[in-house]
Amino acid sequence: MDFSVIDQKICALEDCIENTVPVSADEKLFVGVDLGTAYIVVVVLNSKKEPVACAMEFAQVIKDGLVVDYTGATRIVRKLVKQIEERLGRTLTHAAIAVPPGTGEKDCGTHRYVVEGAGLEVTTILDEPTAANAVLGIVNGVIVDIGGGTTGLSVLEDSKVTYVADEATGGTHLTLVLAGNYKISFEEAEELKKQKDRQAETLAVVFPVIQKMASIVSNHIAGREISAIYLVGGTCCLKNMEQVMEKSIGKPVFKPANPFLVTPLGIALNC
Ligand code: ATP
Repeated sequence: MDFSVIDQKICALEDCIENTVPVSADEKLFVGVDLGTAYIVVVVLNSKKEPVACAMEFAQVIKDGLVVDYTGATRIVRKLVKQIEERLGRTLTHAAIAVPPGTGEKDCGTHRYVVEGAGLEVTTILDEPTAANAVLGIVNGVIVDIGGGTTGLSVLEDSKVTYVADEATGGTHLTLVLAGNYKISFEEAEELKKQKDRQAETLAVVFPVIQKMASIVSNHIAGREISAIYLVGGTCCLKNMEQVMEKSIGKPVFKPANPFLVTPLGIALNC
């Protein structure tokens, strides 16, 4: 797998958080909305499916794949869409969304209503590993998605998702451990967790939780022939996460440049 091409795409998207790439008035745009436990992310691609704008907000309006604050979620999506529309000078009309694998029809409907409530017609609802794999292009292997609330894994065989699992334990748990250890607020701990220059110290504090994430993966892949593991999700941004996981699981582990943006980019690619 050529990770340099994947990393280029993800880095281009990362640039679009701060910078907007101009688009023409009639250019077709592809929009992805990722409704996560910790972040809501909106990604826009141009007619060549290259990133042109990205906006995100920390939000606790979704829990375990379920919308727990419909009004709050809709308000945030509307705000992010408006921000991007102003930056691009274009109106966004359609979007793709993704839900955790196994989400029931009724809950998929609620995700759809959040985005439609914000003024976008939902053209596609896909599952998160399929979205991530639109970027990664894995034929055989396991995508491990460690987001805010859960550690999820999807086994791919011949490019098809053949097994999924999702268990509680994600970045929010790391933040709570840091908040308790340093006696600081959740928000302060969330900031501390992301400080690269302190990650040697903070990783030691949260190490048991990371071991738990690794054991979730190990338990679910036990007895299967797995050639490699690919990390996605914001929590995998932690420095050396791939080394820690590789050592614990005993399989080759790969991490793209910014694992946080893989699924949002994949959702937009499927619009
Ligand atoms: P879920 O997949 O559980 O529904 P989500 O989609 O919101 O949640 P992501 O957006 O993939 O999950 O990741 C969010 C988590 O990643 C949060 O816990 C956040 O603190 C963490 N995170 C984001 N960036 C970083 C970083 N640079 N270093 C460490 N953790 C990070």
